[in-house]
Amino acid sequence: MQWLPAALTSRRTFRRFLSRFIRSRLSFRGYFDLYNIPFLYINHSAFTEKKSPLRPGGLNQGLNVFDHLERDHIQYHVSDPARTEEQNLEALVQDICAERIDFAFLYWPGLDGLLHRVGNQSPEISAKLRLYEDWIEQLLAAVKQHYDQTNLYVFSDHGMANCETFLDLRSKIDALPVRMGSDYAAVYDSTMARFWFFNDFARRQIAHALSQVTQGRIIPDNELEAMHVLFPDRYFGELIFLVQEGVLIVPSHMGERPIRGMHGYHPGDKHSYALLCSNRPEIPEDVVAIPDLFRLMISEAMAAKNENSCSLDYSGLGTKFRQSPKALASDKPLRSQTVLSRSEKSLGQTSYCR
Ligand SMILES: [Zn+2]
Repeated sequence: MQWLPAALTSRRTFRRFLSRFIRSRLSFRGYFDLYNIPFLYINHSAFTEKKSPLRPGGLNQGLNVFDHLERDHIQYHVSDPARTEEQNLEALVQDICAERIDFAFLYWPGLDGLLHRVGNQSPEISAKLRLYEDWIEQLLAAVKQHYDQTNLYVFSDHGMANCETFLDLRSKIDALPVRMGSDYAAVYDSTMARFWFFNDFARRQIAHALSQVTQGRIIPDNELEAMHVLFPDRYFGELIFLVQEGVLIVPSHMGERPIRGMHGYHPGDKHSYALLCSNRPEIPEDVVAIPDLFRLMISEAMAAKNENSCSLDYSGLGTKFRQSPKALASDKPLRSQTVLSRSEKSLGQTSYCR
């Protein structure tokens, strides 16, 4: 595709079409998007999100929450990213009315896209949150008719900062007497640039140039290690330059044009914090960061399954478990349900292979 004119290959509609084409040809099932990666370098890139993370077997390594649910024979519902947010809400309500499930994972990515487009202070954000509130109320109303207890958790997987400064990092690196492809490789994300070096001269040149850029800094190994992102094989980059909150690297391999909001800054930055709220009186003390939600989901799903199999035993399958007082007053099977709403998909990431 290197011979196609850049005017065509950089067009968003063309790249979307090509993303879909490549996804089907290579059997990618994830949210694969080529973003703005030059076709000249695409054969060097290994895309991490090749499968759907919302399905069992969706991770390249390790088990996801859906693998665990299937292994433990827990009946669940999960959103289909190909559907709209409202269609996914309706699909979940149907499964609730059929009393088919112990656990649900509802996925609403719209807020993320809107925040990227309009920033975090637009009145459109309040309107979107109000709409989510209405939908959650509809959901809970449906749940109430069919389940005695619902543990609801609403969470995001990151925050969102407004972009105030645009940094053309690529032109600073392109001006150095080293060449992409033969001396080094680079991936320009929106908030960080990641480099791999093929010789020491390139490493010194680029590290020095980056040290002069005041809008960001090279993250030292001890800090990478503290954030659990220091990989011994440096698969995701030998050098990682991270910008300050509010700075957007543009143009980048994620986009040619500036946008209003971005995430992916240092986890300690003010707008990096994610949200978790619940209708439970308390959230377990060991749930303090996004990775902890994995454990929370599995334990809640297991608890719901156990609770529901108790009540099913009561309604004719053999009384083995204790019956709760509320179920005695109800002619419906007692089931509890965990409803989880996730408001963001992670951006597809690339890593560089030599
Ligand atoms: Zn996003």
